Amino acid sequence: MKEESRAIRNQIKRSHFSEHSAPVYMTSSFVFSSAEEAAQTFAGEREGLVYSRYDNPNTDEFALKIKTIEDGEDALSTASGMAAVFSSFCALLKSGDHIVACKSLFASTHQIISTILPRWGIEYSYVDIKNPGTWAGAFRDSTKILYIETPTNPALDLVDIKWAAELAAANNALLLVDNSFATPCVQKPLRLGADLVLVSATKFIDGQGRAMGGAVCGKKELIEDIRTFTKPTGPTMSPFNAWILAKSVETLSVRMERHCGNAHKIAEYLESLKDDIKFVKYPYLESHPQYDIAVKQMKSGGALLSFELAGGIDQGAKFLNSLKMLSITPNLGDSRTTVTHPASTTQSRMSETERLEAGVTPGLIRLSAGLEDVDDIIEDISQAIGKSRI
Ligand SMILES: *Cc1c(COP(=O)(O)O)cnc(C)c1O
Repeated sequence: MKEESRAIRNQIKRSHFSEHSAPVYMTSSFVFSSAEEAAQTFAGEREGLVYSRYDNPNTDEFALKIKTIEDGEDALSTASGMAAVFSSFCALLKSGDHIVACKSLFASTHQIISTILPRWGIEYSYVDIKNPGTWAGAFRDSTKILYIETPTNPALDLVDIKWAAELAAANNALLLVDNSFATPCVQKPLRLGADLVLVSATKFIDGQGRAMGGAVCGKKELIEDIRTFTKPTGPTMSPFNAWILAKSVETLSVRMERHCGNAHKIAEYLESLKDDIKFVKYPYLESHPQYDIAVKQMKSGGALLSFELAGGIDQGAKFLNSLKMLSITPNLGDSRTTVTHPASTTQSRMSETERLEAGVTPGLIRLSAGLEDVDDIIEDISQAIGKSRI
């Protein structure tokens, strides 16, 4: 069976009720039939659950489905995407170590790397996505991790994952890839050589803007190291969220087909409006500067696109204010199409120069294609562009 089918069929063992779909196991701890059984379970000499901060049937089922769909050896569920990122850094790094990271990062990841980890003596160097030729020079003997996101947010630039994996390996570093934007249905970084994949399940995996969650997936011994960190520190996913998100993985591939199909049609529509549009960025448009990387490592162009209207920031603001259906909200990966103006919201704390380096031009608009009928989405965009011209 293909990963997508196995991710639907793989589930935890049924209880004595023989339920078809896994129930929610809202329990903090698990009981033992004897003092001896308790002692053996604690010592790891027999299989069995102990306490939900360590393990729970629902969080295990979610991790099992992520492991299957990402095609990894093992996976661990976490309370949020950021808990997955932070736990991975904490488990794999110690004082004196160094990270090389591509500068186009999710804002909270940037904050962890540039302000939190340095307090514990972990250093970093940022490299520029536009100049991959300079990346090799950033590695030191103490470099343990190369960290990337692809496609990047919100500029939708790409990193060649296979190339990055070879670069990391040549420098005795691990490659960590945040796959929240593409999702495992569009891109499988572990197959391209990544050591670990990090996911925010809050985005497309939930897909309906309801529950927070995250996961780390990859080599067994690395996941074991991260588990050793998360068991006592507790960035654990709630069983209820795990129950929602495990079900959501089962519908991910069919939802992603619609998300990505809609995004591609919207991108083509915007590109056809020559006079109104300065540029449209979408990995599967031939006009994308890294189109060859996109077709090599992504099954489709993903669900996100960005564009700038010819009238820059003023026309962008009028466009947002003229929308009737699309939601103006920073979330992405929702069943509803969402739009944001990164320069005044998610990237507003950066300086103008930092924004331009991250590909955030003043009038840039990021769109996350939802599951609505694409004709309705295009209709709303079209009428809002019409009004924004005046
Ligand atoms: C949202 C997001 C995160 C953080 O995930 P949370 O679940 O919000 O903690 C990390 N990386 C990327 C690319 C994201 O979009």
